[in-house]
Amino acid sequence: MDFKKIEQKWQTKWDKAKIFEANVDKKKKKFFTSNIIPYVNGNIHIGHSFTYTRVDAYARFKRMQGFNTCLAQGFHATGEPIIGTVKRLKKGDKDQIETFKVYGASDKDIQNFKKLGAEEVAKFWTKHITETMKLMGYSVDWRRKFILSITPEFSRFVEWQYNTLRKKSYVIQGTHPVIWCPQDQSPTGDHDRLKGEGESPIEFTILKFKFKDMYICAATLRPETVFGQTNMWINPDVKYAIILVNGKEKWIVSKECGEKFKDQLKKIEVVGSIKGKEMVGKYCVAPIINKEIIILPAPFCDPKIGTGLVTSVPSHAPFDWQALVDLKNNPEQLKKYGIHPDVLGKINPISIIKVEGFGEHPAEDMIKKLNIKNQRENEKLKEALHTIYTREHHTGAMKDNCGEYSGLSVKETKEKIKKQLLKEGLGDFIWEPTDEVVCRCTNRCHVKILENQWFLKFSDKNWKDKVKQCIAQMKFYPEEARLQFLNTVDWLDDKACTRKSGLGTRLPWDKEWIIETLSDSVIYMAYYAIARVINENKILVSKLTDEVFDYIFLGKGNSKELGKKSKLGEKLINEMREEFEYFYPLDLRNSGKDLVQNHLTYALFHHVAIWDDTKYWPKAYGVNGFVKVYGEKMAKSKGNIIPLKGLIEKYGADLVRINIAASNENMDDADWKEDSLKTFSSRLISLANLVKNLKKAKRKSRNNLDVYLESIVQNCIKGTTENYEIMKFRSGVQYSAFQLLNEINYYIGRCGGIQDCKKDILKESVSTAIKLLAPLASHVSEELWSALGNKTFISLEAWPEFDKSKVDEKLLELETIFKKTQEDLNHVIKLAGKKNNAYLYFVTDKELNYFKDMVNYLKGLFKFKKLEMYKVSDKKKYDPQQKAARAKYGKPAIFLE
Ligand SMILES: [Zn+2]
Repeated sequence: MDFKKIEQKWQTKWDKAKIFEANVDKKKKKFFTSNIIPYVNGNIHIGHSFTYTRVDAYARFKRMQGFNTCLAQGFHATGEPIIGTVKRLKKGDKDQIETFKVYGASDKDIQNFKKLGAEEVAKFWTKHITETMKLMGYSVDWRRKFILSITPEFSRFVEWQYNTLRKKSYVIQGTHPVIWCPQDQSPTGDHDRLKGEGESPIEFTILKFKFKDMYICAATLRPETVFGQTNMWINPDVKYAIILVNGKEKWIVSKECGEKFKDQLKKIEVVGSIKGKEMVGKYCVAPIINKEIIILPAPFCDPKIGTGLVTSVPSHAPFDWQALVDLKNNPEQLKKYGIHPDVLGKINPISIIKVEGFGEHPAEDMIKKLNIKNQRENEKLKEALHTIYTREHHTGAMKDNCGEYSGLSVKETKEKIKKQLLKEGLGDFIWEPTDEVVCRCTNRCHVKILENQWFLKFSDKNWKDKVKQCIAQMKFYPEEARLQFLNTVDWLDDKACTRKSGLGTRLPWDKEWIIETLSDSVIYMAYYAIARVINENKILVSKLTDEVFDYIFLGKGNSKELGKKSKLGEKLINEMREEFEYFYPLDLRNSGKDLVQNHLTYALFHHVAIWDDTKYWPKAYGVNGFVKVYGEKMAKSKGNIIPLKGLIEKYGADLVRINIAASNENMDDADWKEDSLKTFSSRLISLANLVKNLKKAKRKSRNNLDVYLESIVQNCIKGTTENYEIMKFRSGVQYSAFQLLNEINYYIGRCGGIQDCKKDILKESVSTAIKLLAPLASHVSEELWSALGNKTFISLEAWPEFDKSKVDEKLLELETIFKKTQEDLNHVIKLAGKKNNAYLYFVTDKELNYFKDMVNYLKGLFKFKKLEMYKVSDKKKYDPQQKAARAKYGKPAIFLE
């Protein structure tokens, strides 16, 4: 089968007949969905294919179910990435040039990018992605296309969105900690990050340790553990800074920490420096407990994290415990700095928290449990730390050695200690990301406390409640995703929504800010509804006023007056209003699971904020896993990112579509394996052969086998439909591509060859199989549908509906017994050798009668001379007990001689 030729043929026909263009048709129910917008910084690859093919298959499925289906597609260019790319190209970055070439850019194109800049890059890749999507057979209404941050009319829409949010007090200005890129001088949102999606700012407490006329500073998330401190850790190889803070105190911290303080509203002046190794072996005074503790060397003190110094609470902190053990095992480490190893004998872990399930020293327990050997086992130590932290924080209580805090819960103590530290001038704060964050410009990010930044007030309880109400009325595929959304809503805090750099729409009332990439891409689906009218009529931006949008999207105002005032005319305004009213809400949005914690949840926040009426809120979300290639995560460094276009060229779109969509379901990762393409290819070829040979079927009269096939077909319709409906394509394909075809072939065999099949029954079954495969193998299905003599597009045909009245349960059962009997006969003959005569014993008359029709079939199949059938109750031959026992298993008892 020439897949590519078939695909080209049908893509041209679809295009010509405009069958995927969705227009308002009030007589028909609609289904509106859209794909996630790809970033136009290269062509799409195998990683995109899973999500996109699922959405397209679902759209096609809904279209066949009779919905006026609109699948829309836009493109994303907001933020830093494309500008960063152009910078790298200009610098002659080999990696970037190579990546673009892999996706199909020529040297000339790359020259153009350098000359014409980001907009050219965005337009170029938009064009190429569109082509690839067409080659994949995605059933998109391309009249609704636009590019975020490039299409000016869409930017106008974003301005309206933010003006509306601001009127409702959802956008606020304030002073907040944000993840910040010091290179870009801009907040770094999830999609601006190379590493650290989902990480957010968290506040650490700084403990101040008196050291000469200065303070050594250590950052901790657990200020309540001050009672268990035994020593201070310092990195001997790091040169620390002495900084004058707010013109008053001198602090010793890492140089990096000093830089961070500058971004956290502290007035800092570097007044000197001190080498870590100079401080090793000296003593400082621990706060609250007012005790002298020794400073010991520890390579795990990272100058980039916290202050670069760490206070040691070995009983409750696995890193500290292990570092002490390592020093004891290797006292040379201490002698190097002139410290007598005897000092270690004086350091005794102090247990200060009582918690169920741990002994005296939780850190020691966990280290034993996880079999940790030394402080280089970073991952295991982190796990131990996390377990202890969680348990102590939630259920721990302070022991008797904690002064006035004895007996209090850990939670309560933490808050009170923080207050005491501040009051006594022994504490302060520093903000850090919850884990490492790296910007797309490759710089490590830190936390900046931003003044006058604009925030979406995601912390607002009423707003959160509305989102939860929305979630409660939505469907989720799979259902288990619902909880992840609820959790995300709970922990989301105010979110910076603007940046200083990159492509994007300027905040309408404060133009020095640009709306960032996860904030301008949350209700763009509503714009699809009007994009066709805007694109086709070349409507000027200046006519798209806030009032016009208020009318279109919120139904406010009078179209006649607005038409005049905006110079847009009443007709166009009403047309857009009608499109929106008809196609909205969004019936399905599907994406990879990485977008749950940001884009997908943000989209709900924005929808419920803009539209008070719940009928405009999204109806369903699908979430899928990532794509692996032969079991491995995709990464540029592994060279396993496969451009989609190349795959289509190699195998054709249908095989890629079905292979990726059926690869996995729920939120499990898909695994791309080219070997499994063969399975699907042979299925489709076998279906094509059936179509070709149909005309050979000649039998006129109807028999039990026809009823059996009809029943099975119905069951396959049911199995396919139920699974497709909840986006379980892997399970659906088990019915559509496997069971149904197997059963059709079984039927042909049972009939004694295709010439002895009943033509109309066989044709109907084959037609059904083609329809059930049409959402996935969309081009081949058209070809086979046409080969059957149909003049219509299968893409627009009615989906087969399950008809229970066509299922003969009893016959299904009888034929299943018959199948098993054949298997048993094979088995017995294998064991006992070839026999001449066979006797079958049945429990009921019905079974006996059913099998009687098959006497000649079975005799021929197994080459018996004689085949006789009896009821078990007939005592003609052999041991009745044995007969009864066999018959109990729903199969006839078999005896050969
Ligand atoms: Zn950056």
